[in-house]
Amino acid sequence: MFEGLAEKLQNTLKKLRGKGKVTEADVAEAMREVRMALLAADVNLKVVKDFVARVKERAIGQDVLESLTPGQQVVKVVHDELIQLMGGTTSKLNMSSKPPTVVMLVGLQGAGKTTTVAKLGLYLRKQGRRPLLVACDVYRPAAVKQLQVLGNQLDLPVFSMGTGVSPVDIARGATEYAVAQGRDVILLDTAGRLHINEELMDELKSIKSTVKPHEIMLVVDAMTGQDAVNVADSFHKQLGLDGVVLTKLDGDARGGAALSVKAVTGCPIKFAGMGEKPDALEPFHPDRLASRILG
Ligand code: GDP
Repeated sequence: MFEGLAEKLQNTLKKLRGKGKVTEADVAEAMREVRMALLAADVNLKVVKDFVARVKERAIGQDVLESLTPGQQVVKVVHDELIQLMGGTTSKLNMSSKPPTVVMLVGLQGAGKTTTVAKLGLYLRKQGRRPLLVACDVYRPAAVKQLQVLGNQLDLPVFSMGTGVSPVDIARGATEYAVAQGRDVILLDTAGRLHINEELMDELKSIKSTVKPHEIMLVVDAMTGQDAVNVADSFHKQLGLDGVVLTKLDGDARGGAALSVKAVTGCPIKFAGMGEKPDALEPFHPDRLASRILG
């Protein structure tokens, strides 16, 4: 994960850390290297520019260079700013004070939506919740089946009405079922498409306006880098997102999506998919990831 970026940043910052005296020219040189490392990691250009400008300003501005350990102080500024870039703190799911909480997962085909619904179900059960998985992808019978298989494996209930019913009706039916069965979180697995199109957005908007989810989360594939960021931006503008689940972070060598999504869209990454197994879902911790990148 993020090997190239981590190696480059660590090498650059090692040079600074070791210096007893750091000049503005040293900072400028280090920031040139940081800029190149972030661009090579496929971080959004504007995000990189803003990031480097902020670090430079803080490093040169706040008596950092006159301090006893200027190199270490600059490294700390980079660390802090990396955390801020990824949203600062860990963002939690919006939970309704009046159950059931409705969580709607949206995204393009293959991003990992169905897998994430199951993972999230398991995660929530471990938190003492009683989740209900809901199969709203009526276009692919395989998707309904996939969710049922996952639900069976994990012993999590799955609500489905087959593929002959509109997703809006399924979502509504699931809400009634959840109330009757004492389920406190509903996880809607909605249909995806290969690309964003009007039909998809219209469908998602009508589910949104009918069931009024407390949380709409976009599932995107980290390995698609800036494409993931563009998809997030587009979904957020059209649908209004509360959070993002970044999947396949385990296979993402570069890091561009993780470092750009929040800064570009304003939407926090709430969870990270770290593998194919049902327990491979973690809350997204900006501070831990920053520490991992900087070593
Ligand atoms: P959907 O079309 O969005 O519902 O996508 P699926 O849930 O069917 O997932 C597509 C593929 O991505 C499957 O092979 C999943 O096992 C895989 N996948 C999902 N999340 C992750 C993850 O976090 N890491 C890895 N390595 N694979 C994942």
